[in-house]
Amino acid sequence: MDTIKLHALAKINLGLDVIRRREDGYHEVRMIMQTVGLYDRLSLRRCKKDVISIKTNLSFLPTNKNNLVYKAALLLKEEFGIQDGVSVHLDKHIPVAAGLAGGSSDAAATLVGLNRLFKLGLSKKDLMERGVKLGADVPYCIMGGTALSEGIGEILSPLPKLPAAFILIAKPPMHVSTKFVYENLRLDALPSHPDIDGMIQAIQDGQLNGVCSRMENVLETVTIPEYPVIGQLKEIMKTAGALNALMSGSGPSVFGIFTEESAARKAFALCKKQNHANMVFLVKSV
Ligand code: ATP
Repeated sequence: MDTIKLHALAKINLGLDVIRRREDGYHEVRMIMQTVGLYDRLSLRRCKKDVISIKTNLSFLPTNKNNLVYKAALLLKEEFGIQDGVSVHLDKHIPVAAGLAGGSSDAAATLVGLNRLFKLGLSKKDLMERGVKLGADVPYCIMGGTALSEGIGEILSPLPKLPAAFILIAKPPMHVSTKFVYENLRLDALPSHPDIDGMIQAIQDGQLNGVCSRMENVLETVTIPEYPVIGQLKEIMKTAGALNALMSGSGPSVFGIFTEESAARKAFALCKKQNHANMVFLVKSV
């Protein structure tokens, strides 16, 4: 076996709370994470030449050491003294810098893939411990599913599967810097905090309505005033029949949760037609 093909899934945040800013600048969070059926495709090929080479369909994405796939491959190559190289084909579908953890998920898939390709024998836990060095969301991307994420994102508690629903994701045509959003978050002036514990209970009870009624993301207080189109996308989805709609991560992607496929399709068409979003996906939770 010298080639492995993997899917790297996007995530949304059903709830996102920031508890405090740590002395080291990181933020302590409480988030409800959910993987969705939107993914990048990675093909990892082992080769004799000692290089990490990346080809991707997005011309603006770095293919050097700044790509998270490169960083993930380098981390394992260095730790295990791997002399062979790896050639990666990265077919991106997850919008970049969109609050959907695309880069983190690619890094997670690379760790998982290289563990198999080079027979390193690392457990999921071992991979997650290495993943956090690449980014706070990487351990979760290795785990996937529905989960509570705490600490800086590395303390993970799996939760039962979310009840079946249609999830519409719309990305307006701008990139948002996660760093900018966290730096401009006024923790002392937040009007409210999400009811994360109530959401966990609703997930455990299999109550989709209870989950949706508690959807809240404190980072909206920074990103929406900067980009009002996010608020408009939320309204379009809710008016079209979403149980609720929210910005994911630091934005600008917005997702809406629907029980009726017809309503989700109507919202899909409206998001496209009104030119608020340049990328729209209708998916399910995974
Ligand atoms: P998060 O939700 O974790 O904040 P995000 O979805 O907002 O992440 P990403 O798509 O992961 O953001 O990209 C953030 C930055 O990382 C971009 O500026 C991009 O250039 C860089 N990057 C490096 N490697 C990748 C990759 N494989 N895919 C996407 N972006 C990458």
